[in-house]
Amino acid sequence: MDQIRIENLEVYAGHGVHPYEREEGQSFLVDAVLYTDLRMAGMTDDLAFSTHYGHVSKRINSYLREHTFQLIEAAAEHLAKELLLEFPRIDALVLEVKKPHAPVKLPFSNLAVRIERGWKQAYLGIGSNMGDRRAFLEKAVQRIKDHPEIRDVQCSSWMITKPYGGVEQEDFLNGAIGIRTLLQPYELLAFLQSLEAEAGRERKVHWGPRTLDLDILFYEGFVSTDPKLTVPHPDMANREFVLKPLCEISPWQYNPVTGKSAGQMLAALERPAGGFHSSSASVSFGASSPTGAEKTDTFTGPTTGV
Ligand code: ATP
Ligand code: MG
Ligand code: MG
Repeated sequence: MDQIRIENLEVYAGHGVHPYEREEGQSFLVDAVLYTDLRMAGMTDDLAFSTHYGHVSKRINSYLREHTFQLIEAAAEHLAKELLLEFPRIDALVLEVKKPHAPVKLPFSNLAVRIERGWKQAYLGIGSNMGDRRAFLEKAVQRIKDHPEIRDVQCSSWMITKPYGGVEQEDFLNGAIGIRTLLQPYELLAFLQSLEAEAGRERKVHWGPRTLDLDILFYEGFVSTDPKLTVPHPDMANREFVLKPLCEISPWQYNPVTGKSAGQMLAALERPAGGFHSSSASVSFGASSPTGAEKTDTFTGPTTGV
């Protein structure tokens, strides 16, 4: 991707483990590589399509002068978040905070930390089969939209699904949500679990009734087999109620493990080899989502609540 680069921006600020460093201050040097699409700015010669490097430089200077951190790691982390939130055209950045006068009694030319942060594309599965299902889903979507480190929220229509897995329970309402987020995968999981808790989610029976279930289906190219967070979601390819809404918002989203797109996985489920379905439960789109989309589509196939 295109870059805007700021090199060796000098900022006099008070960061350090020693109290005298925070009181007296010293010179820091900052390098920032801002990843952003510059095509439109290049074609139109209009600053409105770019990010003003003067404004970014001023913000780096004021942020580091107005805040005090013991660690340059913390200074870089907080500054990166601030820049990504304040300058919406920056998709990602590499930030290096250098401390050439660090109190180390050895000869060195520089000490620095360098971090890379950015907006990540993630997809979530959402479901409910207790109480006012639609209200649970829509409240969760609102909470997701309100999170300061989440933007560009896309929502599929809601789909009514028959449960499977042996537990007798009410039908589900399911959907899929696309987001861009600054949250790291485990931070995103913790946030989603806080929304489940807020909805009064209780885990009594595996795949049992729930007020709200929020699962991470994909998180950019992240792959994890940790039972606490398995990504991509391992059972996705068997779940029409996950793939169908996902295909509404992002049919080309592909599984980095199998290389199959959501559209390909859905097609494979709908036309399994041998031409039979493993379950005949019916699923239909029956309620509009916050985007207002209405679906009356009906299909058969293996189904379950999220
Ligand atoms: P399934 O994941 O098969 O749809 P479930 O959603 O009913 O089942 P939960 O009871 O919601 O399962 O979650 C059980 C545990 O799964 C959670 O404590 C969580 O740590 C873990 N988990 C693993 N991978 C994921 C993921 N991708 N998204 C959400 N939770 C996950
Ligand atoms: Mg879950
Ligand atoms: Mg689930």
